[in-house]
Amino acid sequence: MIQGSTELVAIVGSPIAQVKSPENFNRWFADHQQNVGMLAIDLAHSALDEFVQTLRGWQNLRGCVVTVPYKQLLAGRLDSVSERSAALRSVNVIRREADGRLVGDIVDGDGFLNAARQQGFDPEGKKALVIGTGGVGSAIAYALCEAGARHLVISDLDPARVETLRGLLSTAFAHTRISAKPTSLADFDLVVNASPVGMSATDDDGPLPLPAALMDTLNATTHVADVVTHPAVTPLLAFARRRGCPVQTGPQMARAQLGNLGHFMGVTPLDI
Ligand code: NAD
Repeated sequence: MIQGSTELVAIVGSPIAQVKSPENFNRWFADHQQNVGMLAIDLAHSALDEFVQTLRGWQNLRGCVVTVPYKQLLAGRLDSVSERSAALRSVNVIRREADGRLVGDIVDGDGFLNAARQQGFDPEGKKALVIGTGGVGSAIAYALCEAGARHLVISDLDPARVETLRGLLSTAFAHTRISAKPTSLADFDLVVNASPVGMSATDDDGPLPLPAALMDTLNATTHVADVVTHPAVTPLLAFARRRGCPVQTGPQMARAQLGNLGHFMGVTPLDI
């Protein structure tokens, strides 16, 4: 029950009805007797500047999770951001300091790594392929380099995006070899789909994010992950399961990120 004394956090995006964060956080707050609540805000683009000013003055607001389409648009409007948010020009969480200053970070990559480690996959020294170099793919690629991946291969339908990310990662991480355009999957330890391919697929034989000839080179030892949340088992993950690969789903990544979001806003421990 929201009371006058309840402290608030929010999630902002548009559309917003599909997000799961409010029910996940509000269940956690209730189960742990925390007088905190999360609101979902469907914000019009034209109201973005006024929204940022409102956040600064909203004294019982601890922070705000950010989703599509505002991750990049809000990154440039905050008072400070983390090193990785500055590099990726994107935020998915904002903390409101007591004096009203707004600080941003992007923890999508942490959520991905948490979920991978929960399944026993450690990226240190490994070779990884990230398909899709948009908001989530860039954050995962950055986190894999930070975690000590040996060789990262990136691919996207948009070659300009690949080159931009390749330049950014090569400058930031001397220890990771960065390349593009995989020719075989045979020696990858990790394959991640971070593109929307497979979203809303209704059967296991739906679209795959790579050509069939390349998919056929996948080995049973490769950890295969997808960021798509609906369906949980995408055609890629169904294909990987049939080959005997360990798989990681989009909902597992989303769940594994909750503690990072809550901790950054100061309303949950890191490990929830
Ligand atoms: P985005 O639009 O920023 O990026 C998507 C990228 O995928 C684009 O660069 C696009 O060119 C590329 N792409 C599309 N089809 C491709 C293909 N066949 N091969 C290679 N690249 C291709 O989107 P985003 O914000 O990064 O979101 C991507 C997905 O991640 C969405 O489905 C979203 O729902 C999901 N997501 C999951 C979580 C989670 O916690 N599991 C969190 C956020 C977003």
